[in-house]
Amino acid sequence: MKKYFSERYDELVPYVPGEQPQDRSYVKLNTNESPFPPSSSVTEAVRLESQKLNLYSDPESLELRKQFAAVFGVDKDEVIMVNGSDEVLNFAFMAFADEKRPLAFPDITYGFYPVFAKLNRIPYTEIPVKDDLSIDVNDYIGIYKTVVIANPNAPTGLFLSLDSIEKIVASNPNNVVIVDEAYIDFGGQSAISLIRKYDNLLVTGTFSKSRSMAGARLGFGIANKELIGNLNTIRYSTNPYNVNRMTSAAGIAALRDNDYYMDNCKTIIANRAWTTDALSALGFEVLDSKANFVFARTDKLSGEQLYLNLKENGVLVRHFKLDRIKDYNRITIGTLDQMKTLIEKTKLILEGK
Ligand SMILES: *Cc1c(COP(=O)(O)O)cnc(C)c1O
Repeated sequence: MKKYFSERYDELVPYVPGEQPQDRSYVKLNTNESPFPPSSSVTEAVRLESQKLNLYSDPESLELRKQFAAVFGVDKDEVIMVNGSDEVLNFAFMAFADEKRPLAFPDITYGFYPVFAKLNRIPYTEIPVKDDLSIDVNDYIGIYKTVVIANPNAPTGLFLSLDSIEKIVASNPNNVVIVDEAYIDFGGQSAISLIRKYDNLLVTGTFSKSRSMAGARLGFGIANKELIGNLNTIRYSTNPYNVNRMTSAAGIAALRDNDYYMDNCKTIIANRAWTTDALSALGFEVLDSKANFVFARTDKLSGEQLYLNLKENGVLVRHFKLDRIKDYNRITIGTLDQMKTLIEKTKLILEGK
């Protein structure tokens, strides 16, 4: 119904989240969640904090930022905590991009970037990735646009070296470069070490993937104090209580248990290697992923058909209809048991059984 809907959003095509079906239980490898539960101190912290739900949360997330700063080796004023990293991406687009500073990002990347650009009516350029789906760094050198790069990229899992990221940041001194590190804990190298060297670098991250908190919605931005101040201006103009009490308590507890989560990441990395080998043995081409998923295709079956057949067999993966990547499926790395089921079912499907 368009009768009351603002024309401002005529061009808006909303983001389509991965399926969260409730009809049956699946081996769920479609939305890059962690297969591991939160640590017990996280659930206990949430239980305790829930007794204070009559009170607003701390709009400054002070305790959470202090704990975060200690673990990440930054100053608490170089950090903003948000309701899922999607929120800080939206804030950053609002704060650092407009008609004079249009956006640039790869054509194959996180589907929310064009959505947030349209939502905020910011012009954007989608820069084609190379035939092998990797990003060509040269395309972003001195581009004079607000650059957004997911590193590792989604849904390819391909990682750009810190050196390449630095070149992009250094060559665009009049624009902010946003590096979305949602998957950095699975083998990449973070750009956080560069935030004091470059005042135009914003690194974003999330507790959704490596810290088993997708359902709690906790993300963050790291940059010099001035950029963080700009983001807070937007935050206080939209939703000052963006991080709720239970999520904040969960985040503090998760940071105290950082070793547990980093160990889980090691398990995922090992399971990724196992899955890559197993898929390759079945004749798949598997991109070299540094994320908690792999992007894979085979000549034997279309991407969509494999997705549908796997779903019938109780395994959910993510298929994108975009032309350049429609042959592929993005498969989240779960437990070894889950990956064994994936391989077993895939094998039967390929054999036509
Ligand atoms: C999952 C994801 C996010 C957002 O995660 P939140 O759950 O909103 O914290 C951001 N960027 C990329 C590339 C992602 O895959």
